[in-house]
Amino acid sequence: MELSYVKILGVKIHKVNMEQAFSSFLYLLNGNICSMIFTPNTEMVMNASKDQDFRRVLNSGDLIVPDGIGIIYASNHHNLGLEDRVPGIELMEKILKFANTTKKSVFLLGGAPGISEKAAENINDTFPNIVIKGFHDGYFKEEEELKVIDKINETRPDILFVALGTPKQELWMNKHRKILNAKVAMGVGGALDVWSGNSKRAPKIFRDLGLEWLYRLIREPKRIWRMMTIPKFLIRVFLEKDFSK
Ligand code: UDP
Repeated sequence: MELSYVKILGVKIHKVNMEQAFSSFLYLLNGNICSMIFTPNTEMVMNASKDQDFRRVLNSGDLIVPDGIGIIYASNHHNLGLEDRVPGIELMEKILKFANTTKKSVFLLGGAPGISEKAAENINDTFPNIVIKGFHDGYFKEEEELKVIDKINETRPDILFVALGTPKQELWMNKHRKILNAKVAMGVGGALDVWSGNSKRAPKIFRDLGLEWLYRLIREPKRIWRMMTIPKFLIRVFLEKDFSK
């Protein structure tokens, strides 16, 4: 299935709304190799615009959804035609709901020790029929990598959620996709922290106003340096002529 896409500072973003993203996920689930779902926000696009290797990896995603509000601002400003945000955490929830009714299996990788286990418990409470084949924290050493992959592969999950933070998770999925015995791998950033109860999503009012980033900043002021990319991104959105190349 060929999805149409736009380019924002050299990064591909598929022109999908939530329903189309989910349909595309269903399609990928029937593929022969491990497909990759990425969820770029402003910060990821900015990093990728300066880092060719990361950009190449992001652009090789099979489904690349517009996660951040900044991406939508940019698209609106340049009339690129992206409809609305597809927050990764919401797409993940839709996938979990689907896995619950169809008995597809999942594996959770990432987060500090204990987080993926707690997230698995809470996901199971919400979706009692889901088959969580396993979990592993995201703080393993490089030399333990193959052991972690073996653990995943033994369980042959349909869906692998990878929460190693960006760009680590995207680079990790890309490096190992050929040997990963999963149908779809999706980078989910801080989503396991949310599922574990360790961190909270912004209240609906913040989300509706496109201010989820502000809520995160208030809760975690040390993110300020990471968030400085947002105004820099907006400046580039408004000033660069070849912005959408
Ligand atoms: N993380 C991890 N291994 C690492 C670095 C980070 O498992 O080597 C986890 C971290 O514990 C957190 C998630 O990755 O659960 C990153 O969360 P963040 O909110 O920073 O997501 P991002 O905005 O980077 O997608």
